[in-house]
Amino acid sequence: MEALRDGFGRRLDYLRLSITDRCNLRCVYCLPLSGASFASPEDALSPAEIERLVRLAQRLGVTKVRVTGGEPLVRRDVLEVVSRLGRLGLRDFSLSTNGVLLAPLAAKLKDAGLHRVNVSLDTLDPARFLRVARFGELPAVLEGLRAALAAGLSPVKVNVVVGRGLNDDEIPAFVDLARRRPLHVRFIELMPIGETGFFTPERWLPMPAIRAACGPLEPCVAPVGSGPARYLRPAGGARGTLGFIGAMSCSFCADCNRMRLTSTGRLVPCLGSEKGTDLRKPLRAGPDDAVLEALWRRTAADKPERHELATSSPRERFMCSLGG
Ligand code: SAM
Repeated sequence: MEALRDGFGRRLDYLRLSITDRCNLRCVYCLPLSGASFASPEDALSPAEIERLVRLAQRLGVTKVRVTGGEPLVRRDVLEVVSRLGRLGLRDFSLSTNGVLLAPLAAKLKDAGLHRVNVSLDTLDPARFLRVARFGELPAVLEGLRAALAAGLSPVKVNVVVGRGLNDDEIPAFVDLARRRPLHVRFIELMPIGETGFFTPERWLPMPAIRAACGPLEPCVAPVGSGPARYLRPAGGARGTLGFIGAMSCSFCADCNRMRLTSTGRLVPCLGSEKGTDLRKPLRAGPDDAVLEALWRRTAADKPERHELATSSPRERFMCSLGG
């Protein structure tokens, strides 16, 4: 089968798979305290339906899958989803989590075939954690990181969304974390997605400023699965690395290789795009994959050359349905 390409000749071999839009946290920049209009459970794809779509994606050349959400670990059958996909022989199979529920699950996820995890963590201060995430507790996330390292879900990456006045004073503390522990800390620019009202130009801290706050850095080898991030490490040596993801400065659209599938089966070609295709209806209509393949290819062809988050945000859309 011919490998999937978009209209600009980019190979789309990476699928971000949201398995639920629900989350146990309400991070101030991501979800309103009251939540969003979450999908009803019967609209979410079942583990078997997810497997069927990922098998199809594999035939279209997808070799890299990231399970995300919402918070994927709140889904009760997450281990079934992971073990179904873990048997498919993907080149890179990872999961993004806020880490709150990770500690008791890390070894089971590894046994189910997961290769590695990314843990989102914006602060190392327990009181601030409550102000930013509004639920959950920092010690549970730190325990989750320890469990992930112990289970061999490596490389373990830590995603830090940086905002001015949110947590920019903690950049040195995260640099120190990468120095002391074998963790790959990735700083991410705040993006204007969703309607939380949190994003303002004043709160947006551009990547060069984030990088400058890290102090002296030196080149290093990038960890496995390094997509758009640029990697360096604290000068003088470190057990981990530092990655820089300039999501808004759009330094990586030219090399973008990803598509997104929501938990209700909507295939979305770009994080910043309003476009998308419902695959759930044809998926549930019958066992023939030819229709799904044609829809998948057509959605790929609709992928824009670059996102336009800086000038127009898909305001109706929360990150929880797209998986970050
Ligand atoms: N619950 C999982 C997690 O915490 O990683 C997966 C879903 S979460 C939506 C994925 C990533 O999106 C997280 O790292 C989160 O910090 C990031 N994110 C959410 N809203 C964002 C925004 N407005 N700007 C930048 N990153 C955002």
